[in-house]
Amino acid sequence: MNRKILLVEDSLTLRNYLEQLLTQSGYEVLSAKSINEANEILLQHQAFLCCIIDYCLPDASDGEAIELALAYQHKVIVITARFNPQLREKMQAKGVVDYLLKDSTASVAYVLPLVQRLEKNQQHKCLVVDDSQTVRNHVVQLLEHQYITTLEAENGEQALTLLQNDPDISFVITDHDMPQKDGVTMIREVRQTWDKNRLAILGLSASEDPTLTAQFLKAGANDFLNKPFHPEEFYCRVHQILDMKEASNELFRMANQDALTGLWNRRYLFNQTCDGCQQRNIAMLDIDHFKQVNDTYGHDGGDSALVTIAKILQLYFPNDLVARFGGEEFCIQACGEFDHFTDQLEKLRKRVEKTTIYHQEREIKVTISIGVAVAMPSLDEQIKQADDRLYLAKESGRNRVISC
Ligand code: GH3
Ligand code: MG
Ligand code: MG
Repeated sequence: MNRKILLVEDSLTLRNYLEQLLTQSGYEVLSAKSINEANEILLQHQAFLCCIIDYCLPDASDGEAIELALAYQHKVIVITARFNPQLREKMQAKGVVDYLLKDSTASVAYVLPLVQRLEKNQQHKCLVVDDSQTVRNHVVQLLEHQYITTLEAENGEQALTLLQNDPDISFVITDHDMPQKDGVTMIREVRQTWDKNRLAILGLSASEDPTLTAQFLKAGANDFLNKPFHPEEFYCRVHQILDMKEASNELFRMANQDALTGLWNRRYLFNQTCDGCQQRNIAMLDIDHFKQVNDTYGHDGGDSALVTIAKILQLYFPNDLVARFGGEEFCIQACGEFDHFTDQLEKLRKRVEKTTIYHQEREIKVTISIGVAVAMPSLDEQIKQADDRLYLAKESGRNRVISC
């Protein structure tokens, strides 16, 4: 991902401060103190995440450096010592990302979350739903100024079809009054499949109806905005919605993912089972004599082995649910033909046997034992059967697959 930023600021103190703030967060900052220097950098480098530009420079006192970066189609954040409503409107009309005052360290420091927001916006795809082409164009333009990819629909019906066909859509901005299907009805239907964390929705309407906000929110919208709106308010709402969505996704990940191996954990496994599936195979896997690995190579050596085994599991079962069940025990849930599943497990077992794990210039070898169970109505019972077979595999000498 592109993390290059052009910073144009003539004050050495502020330039150093911003450069440090951004560099510490992993951005590559190219600095200039004049429009001339900025021009040279712009000629040499093409892709920037954004340009942070002081409105008034010694050799460009009326925003010329901003015009220059905009002419290169870059995203621009303006920093300025002067607050002036006309100037602000003028800058916004040109499509700058935002306009920050230099009046305090706190307001300048806001540049960092703003840059981070811009960077993360690239992961989002927004579906803009409105019967008015003019409104759609306006909203799309605002979103694209901040790197959010967009799709358009003219009514609720079209929006539902697009959502079903595109799993990458992460949020929806929708009008209410539309032919075929209105916004509130559409949101109600959307919420039967997608919850607020998976798909964020911002309602938008020019209706005089004072109950519309409540109708939108009760139907499942995350937030609501009246038309016409000021672009700054629009951005604040969009940023807030996306911040919330990302935070709850992160929370979900933390609650459901194993920190050491990155595999799903036991909680996730029990929440994601394909109930009613006739072909749900389960394998329980356990590393043999793992305690000895820890005793010989230390806890870090044991951890390295766990990470390596987890990677091999994902390599052999890329489309299935692979979870760390606990300690050195793993579980694979795979839907499909049982014989094919056990063949693949046998290949996995051999691969682990042949693998050398390098840890601090020492070589670790491990084997795994595997118990397998064919689909059963109850996941608990199926896991128990796979576990009993895993125990048999251990009893009968380890490093083997037992499937009946
Ligand atoms: P068996 O072949 O019968 O499975 O023997 P084993 O030694 O693998 O089994 P045992 O249950 O006696 O020991 C498992 C060990 O796994 C004990 C525990 O300290 C270690 N272990 C569990 N979780 C972790 C972990 O996250 N990291 C490391 N390094 N060790 C772990
Ligand atoms: Mg309308
Ligand atoms: Mg073990």
